[in-house]
Amino acid sequence: MKIGFIGLGIMGKPMAKNLIKAGHQLVVFDIVKDSVNEVVAAGASAAASAKEAALSCGHIITMLPNSPHVRTAVLGENGVLEGAKKGSVLIDMSSIAPGVSKEIACECEKAGIKMLDAPVSGGEPKAVDGTLSIMVGGDKALFESVKNDILLKMGASAVYCGGIGAGNTTKLANQIIVACNIAALAEALTMAKKAGVDPELVFEAIKGGLAGSTVMNAKAPMMIAGNFKPGFRIDLHIKDLANALDTGHSAASPLPLTSSVMEMFQALRADNAGSDDHSALAKYYAKISGEEISKKAL
Ligand code: NAD
Repeated sequence: MKIGFIGLGIMGKPMAKNLIKAGHQLVVFDIVKDSVNEVVAAGASAAASAKEAALSCGHIITMLPNSPHVRTAVLGENGVLEGAKKGSVLIDMSSIAPGVSKEIACECEKAGIKMLDAPVSGGEPKAVDGTLSIMVGGDKALFESVKNDILLKMGASAVYCGGIGAGNTTKLANQIIVACNIAALAEALTMAKKAGVDPELVFEAIKGGLAGSTVMNAKAPMMIAGNFKPGFRIDLHIKDLANALDTGHSAASPLPLTSSVMEMFQALRADNAGSDDHSALAKYYAKISGEEISKKAL
């Protein structure tokens, strides 16, 4: 299959490479030339714009930071809609506001283009080994038509969640759970250290019990080592929680925990930690408690 792929960042690069490994022909575009060159070296052809990437491909994937970037790449000048033929399929795998997915899908429909929103969870390691969790919104038959040959070449699971925007609503639920878990972990390990128990021993003792989680296994070692290299940047998690708060408030669904963690992230960003991994919530607790989880000075 010939697939246009737009957005070759931390996630897009390995996802595009996995599609090439699966035997697809890729035409790729990113505003950063070095990223394009890296995927071309892996077997893709380069396009000079999103329009050009869409011109010759029946399927187009976007993997971009947030709603404005997807709007620009799809609806803007030299965007996907200027190049894509009627009947083409756009799969937006970025994590964006569900309302914006609906708006973009509506514009696509006017141009005869079908769209799915299909954000992912799993981060760079799972993008590299092709085991992402993919959550999808849009037409069910359209989802079935791309599930095995495209989505499951990048992910270990692809679950249909409902109409357009449902993929991104599901992703927001994921991001709320991850953010609150990391904050709870930072709070608990800081309390243990202040009360005189080694956080490393706390982690060893509880990771197999009810409190244990994928988040704990990934983030406790980072907090204990004082290593906040991303991973998933605080700036991106702020973007997701802003979308979650908008979506929750529009649906009259209060989000008291999300609001609290959002303010912690805002404090960290104001303290120049926006590019740190989200496990740097440990730094927030160090500030308010005067105690660091890590033995290493922060
Ligand atoms: P990134 O910032 O590393 O990559 C985004 C890429 O898009 C960059 O290469 C940038 O140059 C390119 N870009 C921006 N505007 C463009 C445009 N108009 N046309 C073409 N290219 C453009 O981001 P990422 O970490 O790869 O994340 C992508 C999406 O996946 C985000 O929505 C993010 O929230 C989500 N996500 C990220 C992770 C993670 O761990 N990094 C995990 C799950 C989901």
